[in-house]
Amino acid sequence: MPNLSELTDPRAVRRAAEEFRDLGRDAFLAKYELTRSTDYYALIEGQLIDSKPLLAVAYSNQYPDRGLLPVARFSGGTGGAVRALTRLGFATTTRALQQPPELGDEYRDRTAIQDAYGGDRVAGIIRFPGDAVVNVFSDASGPYADDSPSLLTPFGYRGEGLSGPQRLDRGGNARLDAAFQAAVPVRFWYRPKGEPFRFLTWVVVLGRAWVAGTGQDGLDRPEIEWELEAVPGPDSHTWPTKVHESLIDARETTDNNPQAPESRSHTSYADLVDRVDQRGQGRRSTGVVRTDYARSAAARRAVLDRSGGVCESARCTGMPAELNRQGRAILDVDHIKDLALGGEDHPLNMVALCPNCHACKTRAKNAVGWRKELLAHARQAHTRALADNGAANNNPHPGQQL
Ligand SMILES: [Zn+2]
Repeated sequence: MPNLSELTDPRAVRRAAEEFRDLGRDAFLAKYELTRSTDYYALIEGQLIDSKPLLAVAYSNQYPDRGLLPVARFSGGTGGAVRALTRLGFATTTRALQQPPELGDEYRDRTAIQDAYGGDRVAGIIRFPGDAVVNVFSDASGPYADDSPSLLTPFGYRGEGLSGPQRLDRGGNARLDAAFQAAVPVRFWYRPKGEPFRFLTWVVVLGRAWVAGTGQDGLDRPEIEWELEAVPGPDSHTWPTKVHESLIDARETTDNNPQAPESRSHTSYADLVDRVDQRGQGRRSTGVVRTDYARSAAARRAVLDRSGGVCESARCTGMPAELNRQGRAILDVDHIKDLALGGEDHPLNMVALCPNCHACKTRAKNAVGWRKELLAHARQAHTRALADNGAANNNPHPGQQL
């Protein structure tokens, strides 16, 4: 059987490269009925040449009586074509190394990105062949419950893995965690509904928290909530001091056991409030990040938990009949007194509102009255939820824990 290891003559490769240059890429590939490479290229005299076709033709140059080396007989990656080219004294490269993505670059979909840079099908968190930079993809159409990205404030990004407990020690989450630990910049790609994917911004990873989520199979599970923040560019000298401080703080306070999610699938209201109040250290297990963002996420979850999926306004005239992408009630968690005006990021200052009530609270003529009532409600509901938790804790059969 013909074999790539029989290709031993660099002159045969050079002759194939010359023919590639003379014919042009398309004519060369058409002549030999070969297809383009997507991952690795030979770099010969400044020219990028599809690695597998080059070697297939080089083989027939060295052994004219045998014809082309069948491309199905070897891989185009580091174990196959790249190793052979290196052995024969040629340089190899990838698209991402030659022409790395630039801010604002757009691609129709994930397939178009793969066609451009190679690698595996684009999942949530990937690296392009030959490139050390991690790329994070967020699609407004799902399937992950990502926040809309912000260029101004830290935002959440749901970890990779659609069903079963998410894992920190493999795949995209492991790649992103490595970027977090090393404080290296990451490309953030975003696709608004009905639009192309765009390289929107560089980000840094400010931390992670385990949160209770629901998999695509409908089962409760731990999920990783990454905290990302946009930075002006990949050069850390351009990052604001605040970002550097947050990175140091997050790395010092993040627990590194990758397999022990801090969040049980049923974290109680009291646990979440403790976390907001920073009292939870004694009973927290591992994986939690004590950044402002993690506290804020805990506060939001506490309020949603307290609401029981029902608008918390006493004036509510009806919830939307539709459910959100996670199959839950459509509710906004709102700060009654605005954060920017000194309101606290605490369940006592937060309510879950349906979109109608949220609009009334913000825009009604009687907005002041709304805020007063909602503050009173938040206080009552908070006290009641803590009392309910106390009663539940006396239950001799506590709920199953992870
Ligand atoms: Zn309402």
